[in-house]
Amino acid sequence: MPRRLIIVGAGPAGLTAAIVAARAGAKVLVLEQLDRPGAKLSVCGGGRGNVTIRLAAKEMAAAYGRQGRFALAALEAMDAQGLCDFLSGLGVPTVSPDGLHVYPASQRAGDVTAALVRECRRLGVEIRCGVAVDELVLDVAQSPSAVHESDRPAAVRGIRANGQDWPADGIILAAGGCSYAALGGTGAGLKLARKAGHTIVEPVPALVPLVTQETWPAKLAGVSVAEATLRIDLPHERQAASRGDILFTHRGLSGPAVLNLSGRISRLLIKASPVPVLLSLPLASSGIAPGESAAAILERWRVSAGASQVRTLLARQLPRALVDALCEQAGVAADTPAARLPRPVQDDLAQRLAATRLTITRTEGFEHAMVTAGGVALKEVDPRTLASRLIGRLAFAGEILDLDGPTGGFNLHWAFASGALAGTAFSGE
Ligand SMILES: Cc1cc2nc3c(=O)[nH]c(=O)nc-3n(C[C@H](O)[C@H](O)[C@H](O)COP(=O)(O)OP(=O)(O)OC[C@H]3O[C@@H](n4cnc5c(N)ncnc54)[C@H](O)[C@@H]3O)c2cc1C
Repeated sequence: MPRRLIIVGAGPAGLTAAIVAARAGAKVLVLEQLDRPGAKLSVCGGGRGNVTIRLAAKEMAAAYGRQGRFALAALEAMDAQGLCDFLSGLGVPTVSPDGLHVYPASQRAGDVTAALVRECRRLGVEIRCGVAVDELVLDVAQSPSAVHESDRPAAVRGIRANGQDWPADGIILAAGGCSYAALGGTGAGLKLARKAGHTIVEPVPALVPLVTQETWPAKLAGVSVAEATLRIDLPHERQAASRGDILFTHRGLSGPAVLNLSGRISRLLIKASPVPVLLSLPLASSGIAPGESAAAILERWRVSAGASQVRTLLARQLPRALVDALCEQAGVAADTPAARLPRPVQDDLAQRLAATRLTITRTEGFEHAMVTAGGVALKEVDPRTLASRLIGRLAFAGEILDLDGPTGGFNLHWAFASGALAGTAFSGE
């Protein structure tokens, strides 16, 4: 008899798990609360779907931070090349225009969803949409605390949806996180896991734009700066910094460098609000003095380009609107030549370029967060199989776990790789 497997959630993690398990002989049913599978996957990367990043498994694991060690087994079993081979086998060739970030060659994330669904159908996997799973049915009636205390581990024997019980020999919870509710991020899967006895690390929005107390960034909405650095300005967080493009928005800050630090800031905001940050803006140093500070560059301009206006010199390297805002804050008159800049004003301007202080009052929330940080506690899950350590016949895959990565394909890669690993654990043998 093939094993009957129920997968909760038809995202990339759930669909990949379904394919791997069905190929190994399991009889698979995927239940999806929305009216279609892969709703979030289909809009990923602005619709282009940045599915992975060309890094070795160990380098990729490091990018997930402290959680990376947990991810390693899944990443080694399906690395970037492994994922490209898997997708190519489904009829989705991939391309990497910059040699690092990988997209479907068609540049359509929807093609990945369609291929996963097609393969599920070919393998006889049943995908039922419009079914929201309400409960995991355990083989013994136990309270969540009893799951931890009991000598006799509980096991799932099915799920409950719409008042009906569906029996199964194994369940994979691949129900995602809490971001973009309209695309399935309702947090429902976390509630199922918590009710069954799992610890949930408080979910917070990650890869999310930040709102500043200061209003001047809003006046620059749409302006972006490359190679800027954002730092958290708190005593125990000094190491927390992110470098890359920064985008000013109507509410504050976005762009990869901001998004990649946002999960950490989200978590800090739970305990203490607001969170002070420092924004460093890049100025090109001279060929003779690489790594020159902003103060040294302004001093060099005073000597070597004294007749030129400071604003003009700065605007060769930074967006004009941003230069104007910084000069206004530092009290630099519009037409001041570099050589005539009063020293205190020059020092103030240098300080603003090196580290402009901003105050983060909140994030733009789960409605605008690409992923959820937090989720099912990793210590309660076996990284070699993604099976629950508390409840028999239950495994997890994808964003529902307390594991998230930076922008650039890490999160989709985790969904595919963890789905494949969980699916292997529930093969039909
Ligand atoms: C706008 C946007 C763009 C993104 N772009 C990228 C990108 O380019 N690259 C990248 O790496 N990552 C990207 N991400 C992140 C990526 O989409 C997620 O990390 C990934 O989809 C997680 O996969 P998953 O299968 O774990 O969860 P999901 O894709 O969220 O799928 C979970 C599914 O479970 C269903 N479900 C939940 N609860 C229940 C229930 N009780 N019963 C039945 N079904 C349920 C949901 O409806 C959902 O369809 C993006 C995210 C967003 C929001």
